[in-house]
Amino acid sequence: MNDNRVAIYKYKRGNEVVKKAVEKADAFEHLPKNAKVIIKPNIVVWLNGPFPKWGVVTTSAIMEETVILLKEYGINDISIAEGSLQINPEEKHIGQKSFEGLGYQKLQQRYGVKLLDVWERPFEKVEIADGLSLKVNTDLMASDFLVNLPVLKTHAQVKVSLGIKNLKGFLNVASRKKCHNANFEKGLEYMISCLPKFLPPSATIIDGIYTIERGPSFDGKSRKSDLVIASSNVLAADMVGAKVLGHDPCDISYFVQAAENQGLSIDLTDIEVLGEKIEEVAAFHQYTFPFNKDNTLPSSMEKMGIKGLKFHKYDSTLCTYCSPLIGKLLTIIAMSYKGEPFDDVEFLTGKRLKPSPGMKKSILVGQCMCALNKNHEGMQEIVKVKGCPPDPKEAAKAMKGIGIDVDPSFFSNFEMDGALMMKRYKDKSEFDESYYEIE
Ligand code: SF4
Repeated sequence: MNDNRVAIYKYKRGNEVVKKAVEKADAFEHLPKNAKVIIKPNIVVWLNGPFPKWGVVTTSAIMEETVILLKEYGINDISIAEGSLQINPEEKHIGQKSFEGLGYQKLQQRYGVKLLDVWERPFEKVEIADGLSLKVNTDLMASDFLVNLPVLKTHAQVKVSLGIKNLKGFLNVASRKKCHNANFEKGLEYMISCLPKFLPPSATIIDGIYTIERGPSFDGKSRKSDLVIASSNVLAADMVGAKVLGHDPCDISYFVQAAENQGLSIDLTDIEVLGEKIEEVAAFHQYTFPFNKDNTLPSSMEKMGIKGLKFHKYDSTLCTYCSPLIGKLLTIIAMSYKGEPFDDVEFLTGKRLKPSPGMKKSILVGQCMCALNKNHEGMQEIVKVKGCPPDPKEAAKAMKGIGIDVDPSFFSNFEMDGALMMKRYKDKSEFDESYYEIE
């Protein structure tokens, strides 16, 4: 049997597309009889209010088709497991709220599916490389088979986030942060490339009903693409997914490393693509937010004419837990700008950057930046926004110091951002909320 078969199908509601793609690629070829199965959607983030889910969250349409298909294969022990980003650390039980919001309770009632919030479940230590271990959700480790349901999306740090990257949602917080370490050789891309090593046999069904540019979250730009990609080989599915998003697998370093680990050719020559042809469905999706040429300011802010400010581009060491605050800082700076230049101020994030010579003030965002530069001896004033994730009160204080008055609650009100982003999709009928419901 060829594990490297990947099926691409055009999605149409009511046409059993998941079943067709799974059968064409023989994606369930390693599914044991009476298996204990985990389904892993991608619910990267969840808010209490409305927010654009298109291209961000796995559709409930694909989830329901997958559950029905597993039942047809005689599988009765099915769990859905996810560990969404805890965007607001004060928020409790966000996992169960997301399951409810996506209609999964109906799957529980109709098919006996169990709903597991990874944050409320135990973790166990798993070695992913020599001397390198991560804490992984025990339900996954005790399962016989994984059905991986990522979204067909780009990612601002690692270009694409598909099946392999979706596995990060099984890790505990400390391991997720460990993935974003500052080591140049064994940093984020290396860590992600090792994730398939802890997998039980699996199938990957990439949900491309909606796709997103500049993902993985709702500040990107969604598109309706109507695609489903399936394979029993997560890397093969991902490489085809990347091509469909217009990115060459050779340019994605965690693919190069994972392909080497698996002995799979990175140029797709080992992969048999069935169904639609890649070139007929591929559409280029931008992955990164554009910055100026020296990566010291987002292009949009440069175009606004902002002077005297450096907001260095995030790198792969910035964890998901710092990212929302970074977005908020950029938003409030852009919103408050009245044409006056800043007094040579810079913002530093992640785990590698050092204050630049010639600046009068360096604002260190997050615990890692503060620790890395605690003995800095330059001439400039150092302002620390401590905490992991960074403390909103300290962020507000730092902003006040550069003449921007903002209430600390702004930094934890993500519902406002969700509602604002929804406006982009108003009156565009292709962006249909019903894909995230179960009838
Ligand atoms: S401070 Fe930010 S970059 Fe550092 S570990 Fe915490 S979330 Fe990650």
